[in-house]
Amino acid sequence: MKPVALVTTIACAIALPVLADTGEATGSKDTIHLKPIQFVEYDLPNGLHVILHENHAAPVITSYVLYHVGSKNERPDRTGFAHFFEHLMFEGSDNIPRGKIDKYISGAGGNLNASTNFDQTDYYFNLPSNQLKLGLWIESERMMHSKIDETGVETQRQVVKEERRRSYDNQPYGSLFEELAGLCLKGTPYEWVPIGSMQYIDKATIDEFRQFYKTYYLPNNATLSVAGDFKTDEIKALIADYFGTIPKGSDVPRPAFDWKINVPGTSKDVVKDNTPLPATLHAWRAVPETNPDAYPLEMLTNILATGRSSRLYKRLVEKEQAALEVEAFPELLEQAGMVGVFATGQNGVTLEQLDQLITEEIDDVKKSGVTEEEFQKSRNQKEDEFANSYGTMHARAQSLARYHVFYGDTNLINTELNRYLAVKREDLQRVAQQYLTKEGVFLLRYPVPAAPAGEAPPPGAHPPKSDGNQPAPAPGAKTAPVPQPAPSKTK
Ligand SMILES: [Zn+2]
Repeated sequence: MKPVALVTTIACAIALPVLADTGEATGSKDTIHLKPIQFVEYDLPNGLHVILHENHAAPVITSYVLYHVGSKNERPDRTGFAHFFEHLMFEGSDNIPRGKIDKYISGAGGNLNASTNFDQTDYYFNLPSNQLKLGLWIESERMMHSKIDETGVETQRQVVKEERRRSYDNQPYGSLFEELAGLCLKGTPYEWVPIGSMQYIDKATIDEFRQFYKTYYLPNNATLSVAGDFKTDEIKALIADYFGTIPKGSDVPRPAFDWKINVPGTSKDVVKDNTPLPATLHAWRAVPETNPDAYPLEMLTNILATGRSSRLYKRLVEKEQAALEVEAFPELLEQAGMVGVFATGQNGVTLEQLDQLITEEIDDVKKSGVTEEEFQKSRNQKEDEFANSYGTMHARAQSLARYHVFYGDTNLINTELNRYLAVKREDLQRVAQQYLTKEGVFLLRYPVPAAPAGEAPPPGAHPPKSDGNQPAPAPGAKTAPVPQPAPSKTK
């Protein structure tokens, strides 16, 4: 499963680590006993889906609201709206003065964050459990009547423009995923990334923003997941009080398109002055996240280029000393998907050399598959991930909501590991042959611009990395560890 930490997710408010540990020990894989995560779920009459995980290990709660709207719901001439709303919904509401949401939450000893990706927008609060009502009240205010006025829109326009300049335009390889989406996902509503285009945010009228809010930020397009120290019967009554009066909206429009995997690949060179080292990305179209092949594809990309014992790392970085970094990623989405390999070359290495080495390794895995040792290691990694990823109420609330919305099965929080463990070694070779085809490769290259005569070559640099403020991926995260925009503060 792919939660919020994927490369195309923008996490905009920096939150401190959650104070809530479940107190349920996990351990090495020899001692793992995955205790089922209990929950109840139901719908309010207005369509709000509610998931409750009562857990008294620590006096904290997480309230997590997932709106099923992301950048793929935007009009091509109004991109960036979902992410813009992620910011706008911190402005306040009919009953919350402008700029007070973070003050209320931090004043109560909590923290908050929000993020947007192609498929969803989420908001959460981590709070001491005696502040549960505060969290529910703020989220109900945002859902009922967020403040959408000229002052707020203009303020957030400037914030988002600065975010775009800093994280995308002025950062080496900062355009990588925007370019990749434009190339590999072309012809679909995934061909633009959540940050969107500033010209459209500038052009949009206040009425267009209000219309977007009325279309998507509805109880019948939202899931409220609360985890932590509360009594289920009591919180049910509170949720009915706070959210029950919000009117149900119209049915939510969903983008419809035909996702084709077997299309010819294309290539593009991105020439930017701030490219310090040559870099290349090979990507292929793949299945959406709920397809059974998502599991072997994710395990395959781990074996190819996750960690120092991976094939591409050993070959490109250690043996040939051609690359500084190499990473692979699955970016499997609600209605489309791609997998890819990204390498940054050492000074003096040509893009042709890098491309050749990557191609040889891909050809090898198609021809010979993976070894038993690699396969076992990949299974062990998944078991460790599942054993270690649900230590906080936040991780639980988030995954419960995502499994409900995107898989239609909230209980996958307890069972998805079995899907990984059901993958057979030969499946990895099969998906390599089926998806990583020669004809279907999308090639994105960042050449180093020629230096003026007499000037030293640019200093070596790593591609930008997450600064660690983003939440850790949940188990089964089909996420991309390649360059990602740094999180920025919402307010
Ligand atoms: Zn942002």
